[in-house]
Amino acid sequence: MSASIIDGKETAAEVLETVTEATARLAAEKNVIPGIAVVIVGEDPASQVYVRSKGKKAAECGFHSETHTLPAETSEAELLTLVEKLNEDAAIDGILVQLPLPDHIDEGKVIQTIAPDKDVDGFHFINVGKLGTGETETAFVPCTPAGSMVLLRKALGKTDFSGLTAVVVGRSNIVGKPMLNLLLAANATVTIAHSRTKNLPELCRQADILVAAVGRPEMVRGDWVKPGAVVIDVGINRIDAPEKGEGKSRLVGDVAYDESLENAGSITPVPGGVGPMTIAMLMANTLESACRRAGVKAPTY
Ligand code: NDP
Repeated sequence: MSASIIDGKETAAEVLETVTEATARLAAEKNVIPGIAVVIVGEDPASQVYVRSKGKKAAECGFHSETHTLPAETSEAELLTLVEKLNEDAAIDGILVQLPLPDHIDEGKVIQTIAPDKDVDGFHFINVGKLGTGETETAFVPCTPAGSMVLLRKALGKTDFSGLTAVVVGRSNIVGKPMLNLLLAANATVTIAHSRTKNLPELCRQADILVAAVGRPEMVRGDWVKPGAVVIDVGINRIDAPEKGEGKSRLVGDVAYDESLENAGSITPVPGGVGPMTIAMLMANTLESACRRAGVKAPTY
């Protein structure tokens, strides 16, 4: 068997097209323009790249987009004041504070200050609680697991995963745990694994759906994959690539991709799998927030 490749770039483009069309309708019919505010503190180069690409995608979707760039020495109180101002700003439907924040700022406090109905990252306790209790209709779902679910629905050709066994490797608050809840809401039978799990290869071999969100390059080997399984590789790891020349590097996932092609029914590549979906779902969440404001139904993906 040779796995089919789950094309995250193509699916992300489809999501963004739907968002763009729905945004134009919202503007024409309800005079509502989705607004997103991205806040960045400090000069971390990777964060700056992410923030720029979020702003660019938002503009392409037809959103009102603003970026607030604050110096690294900004105090926690100053940042909280800005978040509170954005909470009150009627032109803003989604607030995203780029993480990580400098050490002197309490990330948790900042996230919990964002109004839950503008928390398009889905990190506020209210949204976490809604997802955990199955209130997926009104929760904001974190973008990476939300995007992974879109890819899974497409790969499996269905929205109900009844009878399927899923294993999620990784229990972070931003990927593993919300993924567990989303799979459960889709009726999969889910196990979540982590660094203290015993017999991980054996456990993974039982999975019809295998999600890896670990942050360890190619940890999941090809022979951990059940024949025919759908493999979602969330990991993004930069490793040395001397074969490309001195000092060069390349991106790999948490799954040994080439090895897994043999057993997997379908698999996401890295790059080009889950990565592009994350930013697309951020736009989808912002549109959803604006749709709620306008009292219209948001698209599904
Ligand atoms: P975290 O570091 O927060 O969590 C990693 C998880 O993996 C932890 O639960 C940890 O277990 C578990 N783990 C670590 N080592 C092992 C091991 N040897 N065996 C089993 N489990 C292990 O990572 P994130 O969830 O934030 O990210 C995971 C990966 O996904 C990273 O590569 C990251 O870059 C990528 N990512 C990609 C995104 C995208 O847009 N595609 C977005 C977000 C993340 P324990 O809890 O016991 O420590």
